Amino acid sequence: MQLKISDKIKLNNSIDMPLFGLGVYLTEPGKEAQNAVRYALETGYRLIDTAAMYKNEEDVGTAIRQSKIPREEIFVTTKLWNDDHGYDKALKAFDKSLTKLNIDYIDLYLIHWPVSEKRNETWKAFEKILESGKCRAIGISNYTINHIEELMTNTETIPAVNQVEFSPFLYQKDLLEFCHSKNIQLEAYSPLSRGRKLDNPTLVAIAERYSKTPAQIMIRWVLQHKVIVIPKSANEKRIKENADIFDFNLSEEDMNNLDSLNYNFRVAWDPSKIV
Ligand code: NDP
Repeated sequence: MQLKISDKIKLNNSIDMPLFGLGVYLTEPGKEAQNAVRYALETGYRLIDTAAMYKNEEDVGTAIRQSKIPREEIFVTTKLWNDDHGYDKALKAFDKSLTKLNIDYIDLYLIHWPVSEKRNETWKAFEKILESGKCRAIGISNYTINHIEELMTNTETIPAVNQVEFSPFLYQKDLLEFCHSKNIQLEAYSPLSRGRKLDNPTLVAIAERYSKTPAQIMIRWVLQHKVIVIPKSANEKRIKENADIFDFNLSEEDMNNLDSLNYNFRVAWDPSKIV
């Protein structure tokens, strides 16, 4: 599979989204967040994933403007936090994020978590936001198959993206196939399992064979499943390391070996508990 850092995938509303980007969860607001985005953009990342809850939207916006890279070449995702569900609150939350980012539009706006009872009303606000043109695509995050089926009985607007935890240790094959069948693009968060599995012996052995690091193997595995990936680092060296994954190809056998590491290991909350 020939892949490049600049590769994009067409979402179900025909807009192009980069396959590879930077996550900024737990990246400190201020200089740390601004520098992380700067290092990433200098390295060739063109997708930045933030959220109202991360408290660094302002810094993401600052770094984007300072980069002098044309706005349309960068894809910005942010998310609506759980306290802001409901029609009016969601509209306000979107405007607040847009103001903090201080950019003309947001590329992708996601419902961060499928909060019970409120999520369908929130989705109606998302449809309105999409119509306004202030956002190019809308999507969901942490939605299980059940949550998506429920949403689809209430709306004609299919989410463009579902962002979920996804790694060799949490290979959500059923959800991936389901989203694919509905033309919803899956996006992987915590693709490195927050660094907790980098010493897994199978992973280490595969990494040694390709002369790559375990982190690079984990990220490449996600991409070869045609899933968008947004590893987080606030460290310049690791931001570069995580992007140095476009000069090799995991064999089918190694993809299978990595698939078999799955044991439903999660670093974030399990959304299947949310009814
Ligand atoms: P990741 O799996 O991306 O892991 C990040 C951790 O791994 C950090 O501690 C980082 O430390 C470390 N790390 C990064 N690169 C390397 C490397 N090459 N070698 C060793 N360690 C490394 O976890 P996240 O949970 O941050 O997920 C990525 C992004 O996904 C988030 O930043 C966020 O944008 C999004 N996300 C979305 C969620 C949602 O509910 N929608 C939930 C969680 C995340 P350091 O910074 O020091 O390099």
